Amino acid sequence: MESDEERRIARARLPEGVRPETLAVRAALAPSQHGENSEGLFLTSAYVQPDAATSAKRFADMLDFTYSRTSNPTVRSLEMRLAAMEGAEAAIATTTGMSAILLLIMGLLKAGDHVVCSRSVFGSTIGLFGKEFAKFGVETSFVAQTDLADWRAAMRPTTKLLFAETPTNPLTDVCDIAALAGIAHAGGALLAVDNTFCTPALQRPLSLGADVVMHAATKYLDGQGRVMAGALCGSEALINGIMAPVLRTVGMTLSPFNAWVVLKGLETLHLRMKAQSDQALAVARWLAARPEVARVYYPGLATHPQHDLAMRQQSGLGGAVLSFDLQADTPEAARARAFHVIDSTRVLSIATNLGDTKSIITHPATTSHGRLSETQRQAAGIGQGMVRLAVGLEHVDDITDDLLRGLATLPTA
Ligand SMILES: *Cc1c(COP(=O)(O)O)cnc(C)c1O
Repeated sequence: MESDEERRIARARLPEGVRPETLAVRAALAPSQHGENSEGLFLTSAYVQPDAATSAKRFADMLDFTYSRTSNPTVRSLEMRLAAMEGAEAAIATTTGMSAILLLIMGLLKAGDHVVCSRSVFGSTIGLFGKEFAKFGVETSFVAQTDLADWRAAMRPTTKLLFAETPTNPLTDVCDIAALAGIAHAGGALLAVDNTFCTPALQRPLSLGADVVMHAATKYLDGQGRVMAGALCGSEALINGIMAPVLRTVGMTLSPFNAWVVLKGLETLHLRMKAQSDQALAVARWLAARPEVARVYYPGLATHPQHDLAMRQQSGLGGAVLSFDLQADTPEAARARAFHVIDSTRVLSIATNLGDTKSIITHPATTSHGRLSETQRQAAGIGQGMVRLAVGLEHVDDITDDLLRGLATLPTA
């Protein structure tokens, strides 16, 4: 005869083959003896052990809970759910997206190792590889996002890691994950993919050959702009064998409260990503037809240079971030036009974030890319006339009406 506890735990085990939408709602630790239907929020630093021998065993094998820097039931539920959604054996949660990359570097690399990274990744990622870890003797070559020959040519015998992010911010350049995995593995290196923009609802890099998926869970995984969080997903050997011991020592452990918020966010991820991508496509098409707009950057448009690849790799959706250029004769005039469109909005948030249900409008040249020199920015293709939108869940006509306030009142160029 099974005990009540055995039946409770057995009941929480999902049948084989349930679909990603179901995993997003259901994958987690079994409920406690109280049978809570919404996963519990365990705000506790320590765990009372039944006796000294059990305590000794738990500290030795690290499977059960001892101290929340090493593991917590709410954080564990988030890790289980995210791993299931990415098709990974395991996941590990961190305080922010950046600390997930910090953990990846500390776990994988040592002085003398070499990294190949896209030149178009998130700005702090460039700083972490190119500046902070250069101090410790880890060298990084930055290459062109979409040029496979450039990635291949940068490989060295000491190359241990390739790091990619797709699509990029704000130009939405898409790289070929399967091709990069081929280049990495031919050189005995691993491929890590920052999957923040697409999330597993659209793109599952591990199924395309990547070895590690990194997330800024701060963005779409939370989905409502509430908490900072990050994660790495990969094999049991990589995540629990290599990353977990480093995290336990270093302590970039996610707070249970933030983990709980993201865990709840994941339940609506598929719906949000589909709806926000559909809205972004509608806004991109609307912008492309406006005479004031010189160019729209969005992978869902047939005119995007990697449109076919993006549709194959991203479940047929473009994601929710797009950018557009306002043309002018000088950088100063272009900036004035971009500022006019941004300042004329009354619904959108002027902020530098993405992944929220609230649409956000950003001027990349003076915010996310503000620390580059004008020459570096020009080389990166991010002009003063560029505006980025992270499309949320307001009515799509209210988003385009809001953009029209500025576009319709621009002084003639
Ligand atoms: C925001 C972001 C990060 C960093 O995440 P934080 O949670 O802010 O540390 C990394 N990569 C991408 C693509 C991001 O958008």
